[in-house]
Amino acid sequence: MTYDLNRKRVWVAGHRGMVGSAVVRRLAGEGCEVITAGRDVVDLMRQAEVEAFLADAKPDAIVMAAAKVGGILANDTRPAEFLYDNLMIEANIVASAHANDVEKFLFLGSSCIYPKFADQPITEDSLLTGSLEPTNEWYAIAKIAGIKLAQAYRKQYGRDYISAMPTNLYGPGDNFDLTSSHVMPAIIRKAHEAKVSGASSITVWGTGTPRREFLHADDCADALVFLLKNYSDHEHVNVGSGEDVTILELTQIVCDVVGFTGEIVHDLSKPDGTPRKLMSADKLRSMGWKPRVALEEGITETYQWFLDNQVKASAA
Ligand code: GDP
Repeated sequence: MTYDLNRKRVWVAGHRGMVGSAVVRRLAGEGCEVITAGRDVVDLMRQAEVEAFLADAKPDAIVMAAAKVGGILANDTRPAEFLYDNLMIEANIVASAHANDVEKFLFLGSSCIYPKFADQPITEDSLLTGSLEPTNEWYAIAKIAGIKLAQAYRKQYGRDYISAMPTNLYGPGDNFDLTSSHVMPAIIRKAHEAKVSGASSITVWGTGTPRREFLHADDCADALVFLLKNYSDHEHVNVGSGEDVTILELTQIVCDVVGFTGEIVHDLSKPDGTPRKLMSADKLRSMGWKPRVALEEGITETYQWFLDNQVKASAA
């Protein structure tokens, strides 16, 4: 272990999001004090507010789960927001973390930082070896800048600032809005609504042939806490399940879980995005971490969360 969380004050930035809330749950057993702050307390886009918040809250460690996130269409159509907002949030937090002597900082990126045609499974050293996937290059550039910020503060000031690159995440608390969500919650919602309305088909975007790797948010949170405690180095670390499925295979699993038996139709006017982005899980595995939640089990749990929280809420 390189960093003991016991009795530390840990700020989880972005605690209302799917990953942030999973990290808060996971930290409960670590003997640390978890600090959270809503947008009413600190606007992460404003440097002065972030500085004042950190000078007051004085955390020992930060998990940076705050980001502007969204699926392929949101990324493709709102590039300014995805680039500017993420650059601002991460730059404000890293600089203020250093100014306030924060000991440990964990930055979260995404598998879209890698070149569109990187060799699969993608190892950490593929970063910046080729062109990015155009549908999400704005977000990717911001996330690459975040990795570099953590590295720069380590190099220039000796800070123990590290980065993790999670794959496509899903789970309780995900965004189920069809225009801005990622594929998993979108398909869950579409299959559910088609079942309830008795529709004969659901529509998935693109050809269904792209392959994606999925990891449950609780597994991701577990890996992040593992890295906080056990990792201190310059290079970022992939956080994934090590397995991928096609979008069509994913759709079929979701339909089975939801109980929708109709047809799957493709909307070819929507983008496929990158053909495949399976990350190598070797680095994290070799440190002794592995995921626990199997895909079908995780989808079943996520569907139940959707029923309990979204469907019930919209019926109320
Ligand atoms: P990406 O991993 O950055 O490409 O983000 P997404 O999770 O949004 O999309 C993954 C893949 O799922 C892409 O090939 C999409 O075209 C495909 N897909 C199929 N149906 C949907 C849908 O209803 N919503 C989204 N977001 N993606 C979909």
